[in-house]
This record gives sequence, structure tokens and C-alpha cells, in this order.
Amino acid sequence: MFVLEKVIRPHLLNFKPYSSARDEYQGKEGIFLDANENPFDDLLEYNRYPDPLQREVKNKISVLKDINPENIFLGNGSDEAIDLLFRAFCEPKSDNIIICPPTYGMYSTSALLNNVEIRRVLLTPEFQLNIEDLQQTIDSKTKIIFICSPNNPTGNLINSEDIRILLKSFDGLVVIDEAYIDFSGEDSWIKKLDKYPNLIILQTFSKAWGMAALRMGMAFASQPIIKLLNAIKPPYNINAYTQLIVSEALDKPQVVSSYRDSIIKNRRFLHDALMELNIVKHIFPTDANFILVAFKECEQIFNYLIQHKCIVRLRNKEPLCEDCIRITIGTFDENQKLIHLLKNY
Ligand SMILES: *Cc1c(COP(=O)(O)O)cnc(C)c1O
Repeated sequence: MFVLEKVIRPHLLNFKPYSSARDEYQGKEGIFLDANENPFDDLLEYNRYPDPLQREVKNKISVLKDINPENIFLGNGSDEAIDLLFRAFCEPKSDNIIICPPTYGMYSTSALLNNVEIRRVLLTPEFQLNIEDLQQTIDSKTKIIFICSPNNPTGNLINSEDIRILLKSFDGLVVIDEAYIDFSGEDSWIKKLDKYPNLIILQTFSKAWGMAALRMGMAFASQPIIKLLNAIKPPYNINAYTQLIVSEALDKPQVVSSYRDSIIKNRRFLHDALMELNIVKHIFPTDANFILVAFKECEQIFNYLIQHKCIVRLRNKEPLCEDCIRITIGTFDENQKLIHLLKNY
């Protein structure tokens, strides 16, 4: 059975977070002489510290995704949320986490940085979870299993029934990274949060929302988990400009739908055009804004594309990704140029 108090690092059970000036007084009107800010704002209106809990943005996300604001954590990119999960739950040199390669690189980078043991359970050749191996790899020190769905770099969704089995049987946390969920036909796991106290969902404004430069990622989880993440985060982790622009974007979710529709249309075009090429060995099914493709002579093709200033990601050193290149879906013109280059190879 999952018991949060057993998963939290012991020294954080009674952690007293830093209390910032904006935590202690939350009103908007008044003479603010409490935070050692500069009272002059002639140059830019950025002389005041931002809201440490990003209430306005969270309220809008709450409406859009039909979830309580107390179940939302915002990070400086999902990468910050990933790092904070290690700091909240994983005792260095003692606890371990499980990742399922080939997958997103930040889980292992964050684990290395935090000196936490990484256990690897390869996906199956169909890029699905190897449930039996996972069950055998879990021990009493396993704190987090990271699942990426749709998975980067393979592009496919992970079977929800397999994830359900893990959520039910594992006493630690299951993180489902949904960075690419908007490009898929499937619902987010957000709807199931009430059912699984050990579920954490990651999403981001970097992909479908088109705001990678602003750095804002989301984590959705039970209120005690969100409270803990808020307690250990840097007080002002999301800057005021990012909060403002993301808040404005949240008023126009139809823009995201149209981005998504274009990218899915372009994905179909790119897929069909790649199918015609005899240098292509295999195209893996994708629910994301990229396609994993196995090529004959993949390294030569990669170098040829780079020479022609077309930059794709070589993934052939990843397990199960022999001869593979990951191609992000571009605009219609960009995709046509790529296909043109490949035809002339
Ligand atoms: C791109 C990506 C992210 C996004 O990270 P940010 O820090 O929010 O930009 C998260 N997870 C995966 C799997 C990704 O590919």
C-alpha cells in the first residue's frame, strides 16, 4: 500500500520552508516596504517579486484541465519538477529509481546529479513496458518509476492497462510524463488522479503550447505531494514575465488546438513521404510531434542533412533504436525541404 510519509525523505517530514515576503502578505494594494524591492518602475514594470505560487496561472489551468489549483505545481520547465521529485523523495546513495529506456534523458541526468541509483528496465521491442521485469526490479528502496507517454524518442503511447497495474501494485510513486499528450488521441491521466495517490503527471508549455523559451512545466498530483513540492522549491521559481505571457496564452486555448491540428496534418504528410524513400528501413508509429525513423546508412544520412543545414537528432546509440534518427515535425515547407534533401541523398 502507498503511504506518502514512508516515501518522503525523512528529514523533510517536518521541513519548515523559507517564508518570503510575498508569502506573508498576499494583498495586492498597499505601500510595499517589506521585500527590499526598488520602488521605482520607470524602466520596466518588473521591480516587484512575482507571485511565488503563481495563483492566476494556476486558476486558469484549473479551469482548462478541470482540476483543483491545489493539485497543480508549476516549475521552471518540467525539468525543475523532475529535479524536485528527486530532492523530495530520493535519499542519495540509498534509494533508487527505475527508468525504461529508450526514454527522455533528464530522468537519469537528474538521478546522477542527485546521486540516486538508476535501475534500467528496457522497453519491449514494441516500446511497451516490460511489467514482469519491472516487478522484479522494484525493491523496498525504489521510490519512483518514470514512464514517458507518448515516449521520447520513440513517439508511442504506453499501454494504459500496464500503467494501471503499476499504479496499483507499486508502493512508490509513478511519474507519467505527458509532455506530448496534446499530439495524441488519448486522454491525460489527470482524470485518474483521485484514484491513485501515488500518481504524478508531468506536462509542459514547451511543446504543444509553443513556449519552450519561457520555461514553464506543470506537475499534477495529490495535495500533500503538491504541498511538499511547493515547500522545497526556490521561492520565486517562475518569473513574472513568464507568468504573464502564459496567463495570456491560457485565454486562447484555441491557438493550441490549431497548432496541434497543423502538426498532426504535417505528421501525416511527412510519414507518407518518408514511406516512399528506399533509404528508409522503418518508420515507428507516433503519437507525438516527432517521428522515429530507421535508415539505411543512418550516420551518413545524419551528416549529410547537417551539411545541408537540416538538423535532426541522431538516436542510434539508444537501446532498441539501432539506425534511428528522430525527426521533429516542422512546418509544411520545412518538411518538404527535408524530403527533398533525402530524395537527393
Ligand atoms: C521536451 C520534454 C519535456 C519538457 O521539458 P521542459 O523542461 O518543460 O521544457 C519533458 N519531458 C519530455 C519527455 C520531453 O521530451
